Amino acid sequence: MIQTADIVVVGGGCMGASIALHLAEKQAGKILLLEQKDLANGASGKGIGIIRTHYTHPTLAKLAYQSLLRFHHFSERYGGYESGFNPCGYYILVGEADIQTLASIVEQHRSFGINVSSVDPQQVKVAVPSLYIEDVAAAAYEPDSGYGSPPMTTLAFAQRAIELGVKVCTQTPVTAINLDVEGRIEAVVTPQGTIATRTVVDCVGAWARQFTADVDLPFPVTPVVEHVVVAERPIKLAAPHPVVSDLVNLCYLRSDADQPYTRIGNSDPKYHSQFFLDDANQFTGQIFPDICETLQHKLMHRMPGLSEGKITQTYSGMWGVTPDYQPIIDRLEHVPGLYCAIGFSGHGYKLSPIIGDLMSRFIMGESDERVESLKLFRYSRFQENDLVKAPLSYSQARGLR
Ligand SMILES: Cc1cc2nc3c(=O)[nH]c(=O)nc-3n(C[C@H](O)[C@H](O)[C@H](O)COP(=O)(O)OP(=O)(O)OC[C@H]3O[C@@H](n4cnc5c(N)ncnc54)[C@H](O)[C@@H]3O)c2cc1C
Repeated sequence: MIQTADIVVVGGGCMGASIALHLAEKQAGKILLLEQKDLANGASGKGIGIIRTHYTHPTLAKLAYQSLLRFHHFSERYGGYESGFNPCGYYILVGEADIQTLASIVEQHRSFGINVSSVDPQQVKVAVPSLYIEDVAAAAYEPDSGYGSPPMTTLAFAQRAIELGVKVCTQTPVTAINLDVEGRIEAVVTPQGTIATRTVVDCVGAWARQFTADVDLPFPVTPVVEHVVVAERPIKLAAPHPVVSDLVNLCYLRSDADQPYTRIGNSDPKYHSQFFLDDANQFTGQIFPDICETLQHKLMHRMPGLSEGKITQTYSGMWGVTPDYQPIIDRLEHVPGLYCAIGFSGHGYKLSPIIGDLMSRFIMGESDERVESLKLFRYSRFQENDLVKAPLSYSQARGLR
């Protein structure tokens, strides 16, 4: 049976669900959200969920700030649904080489209205006694940041979207995009039937390369396995601690709210190429033991008291990473009717509320300064050799910050 839709959003992660919801809020017509498996099947089901505004690129910092404000008022803004946001505070720790960069970024962010301040490492030690800070030369603190639950947020967006009339179809993979004789989108094909539509929003994350292969649109998005190690803190360290971005040892960590667990992930780009996959469907939750051991060492270094606790779990998720670690958000001129919001690498969750809003406005043909700011993430930047580059960068973290 052929159905019709004004807009088909493909991919039921935080990004697809947010875009579908924001389109529905703007009464963009009949909207379908199609997910090949269950909602939050991809990165959004495994993300560690850190929400902070610290970015070296001013556009990203401003977007993250707009998102942070939404996380603070999530349930009022999105129909009473919850994101699991815990504003437990966020520290960024840097070494000698990055003292000036951190100070400049803090000053810039304060000029954007972001609540952030430089703090002496000794003050960090007083606030979070479990941290080892002898190798930390400078630090900054965002009291309003923290972490949320990516799967809960995805479900919240989807539930609100359904209330506003979006039809959400899980277990519905899009297997082909059909074009008319002029090369414009005319339908998407699923095992359940063909859906006639003129507008498709590609939010398939790490599956980006295969999704548009048939319409000859190559996306430079590589699926990457990302590991998380979870340690149980001993009783004397059981109280939750703030989120920490450790740019000395290139890792990030946060505690859980309801259990004395600390989660740590890698932010050292030198490891990523070891975990590249040829195809997103090769992801099975595989674990590479060497990186887990490295993460465990990093954790014990930063929180030495955890050597008295135990590792309770190691798991992995999968991101879609681009050459500059930044997303591709655009209208694809090669395939009229196709939009994309993919390749968010390791930092898409925190941006999902604002990207959903701006992307829906972009699709509706609206334009203002913030919608225009999305041009930074245009598809053509790879051909133009004009990758996203921050005016300031940290010595080791490169494009990741
Ligand atoms: C371990 C880990 C830690 C992270 N930590 C953070 C963090 O601290 N902070 C942060 O902001 N971000 C973090 N991220 C990144 C963040 O999770 C992602 O950027 C974000 O979830 C991307 O959302 P998405 O909707 O674009 O993609 P995804 O969540 O991957 O969703 C894509 C969806 O598309 C579906 N799909 C694919 N092909 C098809 C098809 N043909 N038809 C229908 N459906 C299809 C998939 O099944 C999937 O559900 C982390 C990620 C991981 C893995």
